[in-house]
Amino acid sequence: MSDIIKLLPDSVANQIAAGEVIQRPASAIKELMENAIDAGAVRIQVVVKDSGKSFMQVIDDGHGMSETDARLSFERHATSKINQANDLFAIRTMGFRGEALASIAAVAMVEMKTRLHSNDVGTELEIAGSKVESQQPTACPTGTAITIKNLFYNIPARRNFLKSNASETRHIVEEFQRVALAFPEKSFSLTQDGVQVFNLTAGNLKQRITGIFGNGYNERIVPTQEDTTILKIEGYIGKPEFAKKTRGEQFLFVNRRFIKSSYINHAISDAFADLLPPNTFPSYFLFIEIDPSKIDINIHPTKTEIKFEDEKSIYAIIRAATKRALGKFSITPSLDFDQETAFNIPVSMYGTLPRQPEVKVDKSYNPFTAENNAKKNTHGWENLYIKSSDQPSDLFEVEPASRPNQKIKIFGQFALKYILACNSEGMLLIDQKRAHERILYERHAKLLSQSAQAIQQDLFPIKIEFSTADAHLIKEIEPELKKIGFDISELGGTTFVLNGVPSGTERGREKYILEAILESYKNQSTLSNDQQTEKILRSFASTIAISYGVTLNMEEMERIVHDLFECDVKEWSPTGKKTFKLLTEQDLHSLF
Ligand code: ADP
Ligand code: MG
Repeated sequence: MSDIIKLLPDSVANQIAAGEVIQRPASAIKELMENAIDAGAVRIQVVVKDSGKSFMQVIDDGHGMSETDARLSFERHATSKINQANDLFAIRTMGFRGEALASIAAVAMVEMKTRLHSNDVGTELEIAGSKVESQQPTACPTGTAITIKNLFYNIPARRNFLKSNASETRHIVEEFQRVALAFPEKSFSLTQDGVQVFNLTAGNLKQRITGIFGNGYNERIVPTQEDTTILKIEGYIGKPEFAKKTRGEQFLFVNRRFIKSSYINHAISDAFADLLPPNTFPSYFLFIEIDPSKIDINIHPTKTEIKFEDEKSIYAIIRAATKRALGKFSITPSLDFDQETAFNIPVSMYGTLPRQPEVKVDKSYNPFTAENNAKKNTHGWENLYIKSSDQPSDLFEVEPASRPNQKIKIFGQFALKYILACNSEGMLLIDQKRAHERILYERHAKLLSQSAQAIQQDLFPIKIEFSTADAHLIKEIEPELKKIGFDISELGGTTFVLNGVPSGTERGREKYILEAILESYKNQSTLSNDQQTEKILRSFASTIAISYGVTLNMEEMERIVHDLFECDVKEWSPTGKKTFKLLTEQDLHSLF
């Protein structure tokens, strides 16, 4: 056989590299903004059209490039930021891999205008699919303006892979916010389809946070600062009572680079301990400064993951700093979740929170009432039970219609989490939340398949304000939300009006439930091929399902057990977790 190995042409190699670095319009925006930062710009303007698919532009007032550099910047592994391997351990710039521009030029039509401060004329360069189409002197402001048109024009498969406009816009806003937060001393603007959505003037971190998330944040965050030999921490953490159902506002920067780290996230959450109501996430805006030789940011092409040399100490320091900040502002003793109307969740869900006299408890809250009413109209399930007496006792017999010979005895609730029962096969340990999730999921799925519209409760219209990113997500999944019964429409910007909700939705919790759906939607793997509706149905079920920590009376336990055993898929929650465990007699024997 003759030789078969050959070197890939640059254009192909660049396309392959682009697959890793440029996944969507937002990745290109991130890279261009970072380049502007590295070029020392103090004012960075971002313009996008058609959610970046057809047009993206980043204009900076940084140092610009010479004619030769302008051309070289599009070569792969062309960078001005490192010279030798050792430099990798002292990285202070955002970029260093020299891949971004080459990747972008491989998969889009790019125009660059750039001028050095010392030069009177600039350079204009056009490049598409890695081919330079023209390069000529031009009159332009100092700094650099890069325009990207028709991303993935030459890779239809990738172009088709892009999500809806709302979804791609949400990603752009997210990347924009991350860079803008990391550099509050610079000014940034973002213009989408001719509308300026952010205009952030230079200031301090707190001003930047309120500039992005609204003035309400002045009251919601406390500063934290720690100076140790290993690292320096600075930033703000959100007061626990403003914790969110969505994880969106968790920002960690290491040497001003936005980083995802579940490890450090855990350190912070742990410091909040039981100050947080279950299923809520604290907001934080934390900046870690650390000697670059003590970290490795080279492990991922998009550079959002990081390895620390001394993880354990870092965990401890961050946890302590967060605790100290919470303590210093004596957040602990004055918890009163009821004061904030925007954060309205029923107290009976707190479960593990220490009950303090000043916490106003909504004693009338019963997670079953609303559903109860809805169900009474549709089923006559009560008649299906064979009760041993009229008064609920400790021992009940439930006889699901579908399994006439399968009598289930219920003993009670354990740890405010499990329903203990038995049938002829053995002991049943039923997870109350997962079981309820399965029930809700199947019920709503059935409703959906029967008619186009779920049963809906009309509401006195409620106005709801979302963060920019969440607003985009709402727009993205609006048709699915409507299908399951959320009658939501856009009022303008990030404001929405809710006119109806699915039956079973607790009054006063509408915003909370929507936020929770968003959060759980975001956390579900985007890799699966699931239908969107199903994904939302799952989120919905897990949000309105009875949570742990809620005391169930006998009647409620019966209903859950009965309904669970009526389900098509009894054994698994909609997200694939076991709803119950059966301990057979043999299992029990082996325990003794
Ligand atoms: P990296 O940022 O990893 O070096 P890029 O492909 O993003 O790689 O950029 C290549 C080079 O082009 C940079 O090292 C820099 O010298 C130059 N460059 C890119 N964007 C700009 C800009 N906005 N202003 C000045 N120089 C830039
Ligand atoms: Mg770069």
